[in-house]
Amino acid sequence: MLDKIEKILISEEQLQQRIRELGAELTRDYADKNPIIVGVLKGVVIFYADMVKQIKVPCEMAFMTLRSYNGTESTGQIQVVQDVTADIKGRHVLILEDIFDTGKSLDFTYRHLMEREPASIKICTLLDKPSRRRPEITLQADYTGFTIDDLFVIGYGLDYDEYYRNLPFVGILKPEEYNSKE
Ligand code: 5GP
Ligand code: MG
Repeated sequence: MLDKIEKILISEEQLQQRIRELGAELTRDYADKNPIIVGVLKGVVIFYADMVKQIKVPCEMAFMTLRSYNGTESTGQIQVVQDVTADIKGRHVLILEDIFDTGKSLDFTYRHLMEREPASIKICTLLDKPSRRRPEITLQADYTGFTIDDLFVIGYGLDYDEYYRNLPFVGILKPEEYNSKE
Protein backbone atom coordinates (compact mmCIF):
# COMPACT_ATOMS: atom_id res chain seq x y z
CA MET A 1 0.00 0.00 0.00
CA LEU A 2 2.85 2.42 0.83
CA ASP A 3 4.13 2.24 -2.75
CA LYS A 4 0.96 4.11 -3.81
CA ILE A 5 1.75 7.10 -1.58
CA GLU A 6 3.27 10.19 -3.14
CA LYS A 7 3.85 12.05 0.10
CA ILE A 8 3.09 11.95 3.81
CA LEU A 9 1.50 15.29 4.66
CA ILE A 10 0.90 14.81 8.38
CA SER A 11 2.79 12.07 10.18
CA GLU A 12 1.42 9.75 12.85
CA GLU A 13 3.46 11.63 15.49
CA GLN A 14 2.16 15.03 14.35
CA LEU A 15 -1.43 13.74 14.43
CA GLN A 16 -1.09 12.29 17.93
CA GLN A 17 0.64 15.41 19.26
CA ARG A 18 -2.09 17.71 17.91
CA ILE A 19 -4.82 15.41 19.25
CA ARG A 20 -3.29 15.62 22.72
CA GLU A 21 -3.35 19.43 22.47
CA LEU A 22 -6.97 19.49 21.31
CA GLY A 23 -7.81 16.99 24.05
CA ALA A 24 -6.44 19.34 26.71
CA GLU A 25 -8.58 22.19 25.33
CA LEU A 26 -11.73 20.06 25.06
CA THR A 27 -11.20 18.62 28.52
CA ARG A 28 -11.18 22.15 29.93
CA ASP A 29 -14.10 23.38 27.81
CA TYR A 30 -16.35 20.37 28.51
CA ALA A 31 -15.66 19.93 32.22
CA ASP A 32 -19.05 19.30 33.93
CA LYS A 33 -20.93 19.39 30.60
CA ASN A 34 -21.37 15.64 29.99
CA PRO A 35 -21.17 16.13 26.21
CA ILE A 36 -22.53 13.85 23.53
CA ILE A 37 -19.73 13.42 21.03
CA VAL A 38 -21.13 12.86 17.55
CA GLY A 39 -18.94 11.30 14.89
CA VAL A 40 -19.84 11.52 11.24
CA LEU A 41 -18.98 8.13 9.74
CA LYS A 42 -17.04 6.65 8.19
CA GLY A 43 -14.20 9.10 7.63
CA VAL A 44 -13.99 10.18 11.26
CA VAL A 45 -13.63 6.73 12.79
CA ILE A 46 -9.85 6.71 13.36
CA PHE A 47 -9.71 10.34 14.53
CA TYR A 48 -12.75 9.76 16.76
CA ALA A 49 -11.18 6.82 18.56
CA ASP A 50 -7.93 8.69 19.21
CA MET A 51 -9.65 11.99 20.04
CA VAL A 52 -12.15 10.74 22.66
CA LYS A 53 -9.35 9.08 24.62
CA GLN A 54 -7.87 12.56 25.13
CA ILE A 55 -11.16 14.18 26.22
CA LYS A 56 -10.99 13.31 29.87
CA VAL A 57 -14.55 14.10 30.96
CA PRO A 58 -17.66 11.88 31.23
CA CYS A 59 -19.21 11.75 27.77
CA GLU A 60 -21.54 9.79 25.51
CA MET A 61 -20.65 8.54 22.06
CA ALA A 62 -22.99 8.81 19.11
CA PHE A 63 -22.65 8.36 15.37
CA MET A 64 -24.37 9.29 12.20
CA THR A 65 -23.74 8.31 8.62
CA LEU A 66 -24.21 10.62 5.67
CA ARG A 67 -23.94 9.82 2.03
CA SER A 68 -22.52 12.66 -0.02
CA TYR A 69 -19.45 11.80 -2.04
CA ASN A 70 -18.52 9.57 -4.99
CA GLY A 71 -14.81 9.10 -5.60
CA THR A 72 -13.24 12.53 -5.32
CA GLU A 73 -16.27 14.49 -6.55
CA SER A 74 -19.10 15.97 -4.54
CA THR A 75 -22.53 15.07 -5.85
CA GLY A 76 -24.02 17.99 -3.93
CA GLN A 77 -26.61 15.61 -2.48
CA ILE A 78 -26.59 14.73 1.19
CA GLN A 79 -28.70 12.02 2.79
CA VAL A 80 -28.85 10.75 6.38
CA VAL A 81 -28.18 7.03 6.12
CA GLN A 82 -28.05 6.49 9.88
CA ASP A 83 -29.12 9.10 12.44
CA VAL A 84 -28.05 9.80 16.03
CA THR A 85 -30.30 7.66 18.23
CA ALA A 86 -29.61 9.43 21.56
CA ASP A 87 -31.95 12.18 22.76
CA ILE A 88 -29.81 15.31 22.38
CA LYS A 89 -32.38 17.85 23.56
CA GLY A 90 -30.80 20.13 26.15
CA ARG A 91 -27.44 18.39 25.82
CA HIS A 92 -24.04 19.75 24.81
CA VAL A 93 -23.12 18.25 21.46
CA LEU A 94 -19.61 18.11 20.09
CA ILE A 95 -19.40 17.11 16.42
CA LEU A 96 -16.18 15.43 15.34
CA GLU A 97 -15.41 15.49 11.62
CA ASP A 98 -12.54 14.28 9.51
CA ILE A 99 -12.41 17.17 7.08
CA PHE A 100 -14.12 20.52 6.51
CA ASP A 101 -13.98 20.92 2.74
CA THR A 102 -16.77 22.72 0.82
CA GLY A 103 -18.61 22.77 4.16
CA LYS A 104 -21.80 21.22 2.83
CA SER A 105 -21.66 18.11 5.02
CA LEU A 106 -20.88 19.95 8.24
CA ASP A 107 -23.47 22.63 7.52
CA PHE A 108 -26.05 19.92 6.88
CA THR A 109 -25.07 18.01 10.04
CA TYR A 110 -25.14 21.16 12.15
CA ARG A 111 -28.63 22.17 10.97
CA HIS A 112 -29.92 18.63 11.24
CA LEU A 113 -28.82 18.30 14.88
CA MET A 114 -29.91 21.87 15.75
CA GLU A 115 -33.50 20.92 14.97
CA ARG A 116 -33.41 18.61 17.97
CA GLU A 117 -32.76 21.54 20.35
CA PRO A 118 -29.43 20.72 21.98
CA ALA A 119 -28.07 23.17 24.59
CA SER A 120 -25.07 23.79 22.33
CA ILE A 121 -23.27 22.42 19.29
CA LYS A 122 -19.57 22.84 18.65
CA ILE A 123 -17.47 21.49 15.84
CA CYS A 124 -14.07 19.89 16.01
CA THR A 125 -12.53 18.99 12.66
CA LEU A 126 -9.22 17.24 12.19
CA LEU A 127 -8.55 18.92 8.84
CA ASP A 128 -9.73 22.18 7.33
CA LYS A 129 -9.44 23.21 3.67
CA PRO A 130 -10.70 26.83 3.87
CA SER A 131 -9.82 27.53 0.23
CA ARG A 132 -12.52 25.04 -0.82
CA ARG A 133 -15.34 26.54 1.26
CA ARG A 134 -18.50 27.41 -0.63
CA PRO A 135 -19.34 31.12 -0.29
CA GLU A 136 -22.79 30.45 1.23
CA ILE A 137 -21.31 28.48 4.13
CA THR A 138 -20.77 30.74 7.13
CA LEU A 139 -20.32 27.97 9.68
CA GLN A 140 -16.87 27.76 11.25
CA ALA A 141 -15.08 25.05 13.17
CA ASP A 142 -14.58 25.73 16.88
CA TYR A 143 -11.55 23.43 17.02
CA THR A 144 -9.26 22.58 14.10
CA GLY A 145 -6.43 20.08 13.97
CA PHE A 146 -4.63 21.18 10.83
CA THR A 147 -5.36 23.66 8.04
CA ILE A 148 -4.28 22.23 4.70
CA ASP A 149 -4.06 23.34 1.05
CA ASP A 150 -6.53 22.30 -1.61
CA LEU A 151 -5.26 18.73 -1.99
CA PHE A 152 -7.17 15.45 -2.02
CA VAL A 153 -5.82 13.62 1.01
CA ILE A 154 -6.16 10.02 2.14
CA GLY A 155 -5.36 8.02 5.25
CA TYR A 156 -6.23 8.28 8.95
CA GLY A 157 -9.88 7.52 8.09
CA LEU A 158 -10.02 9.34 4.76
CA ASP A 159 -10.59 7.18 1.70
CA TYR A 160 -10.22 7.07 -2.02
CA ASP A 161 -13.05 4.84 -3.21
CA GLU A 162 -13.20 3.26 0.27
CA TYR A 163 -9.51 2.31 0.42
CA TYR A 164 -6.56 3.76 2.40
CA ARG A 165 -8.62 4.60 5.51
CA ASN A 166 -6.34 2.39 7.62
CA LEU A 167 -3.14 4.34 6.96
CA PRO A 168 -1.89 5.85 10.25
CA PHE A 169 -0.91 9.17 8.58
CA VAL A 170 -2.51 11.71 6.24
CA GLY A 171 -0.99 11.69 2.78
CA ILE A 172 -1.56 12.06 -0.93
CA LEU A 173 -1.66 9.34 -3.55
CA LYS A 174 0.59 9.15 -6.57
CA PRO A 175 -1.21 10.79 -9.50
CA GLU A 176 -1.33 7.53 -11.50
CA GLU A 177 -3.46 5.92 -8.77
CA TYR A 178 -6.42 8.10 -9.79
CA ASN A 179 -6.10 7.47 -13.50
CA SER A 180 -8.09 4.28 -13.71
CA LYS A 181 -11.06 5.90 -11.97
CA GLU A 182 -11.32 9.32 -13.59
P1 5GP B 1 -17.67 18.82 2.36
O1 5GP B 1 -19.13 18.58 2.48
O2 5GP B 1 -17.07 19.73 3.40
O3 5GP B 1 -17.28 19.25 0.96
O4 5GP B 1 -16.95 17.45 2.40
C1 5GP B 1 -16.93 16.66 3.49
C2 5GP B 1 -16.65 15.25 3.10
O5 5GP B 1 -16.03 15.13 1.80
C3 5GP B 1 -15.65 14.69 4.04
O6 5GP B 1 -16.28 14.20 5.21
C4 5GP B 1 -14.98 13.62 3.20
O7 5GP B 1 -15.74 12.45 3.24
C5 5GP B 1 -15.00 14.18 1.80
N1 5GP B 1 -13.74 14.86 1.47
C6 5GP B 1 -13.53 16.18 1.31
N2 5GP B 1 -12.24 16.45 1.04
C7 5GP B 1 -11.62 15.26 1.04
C8 5GP B 1 -10.24 14.85 0.85
O8 5GP B 1 -9.30 15.63 0.62
N3 5GP B 1 -9.99 13.52 0.92
C9 5GP B 1 -10.96 12.60 1.15
N4 5GP B 1 -10.60 11.33 1.21
N5 5GP B 1 -12.26 12.94 1.37
C10 5GP B 1 -12.56 14.25 1.31
MG1 MG C 1 -16.69 12.53 6.29
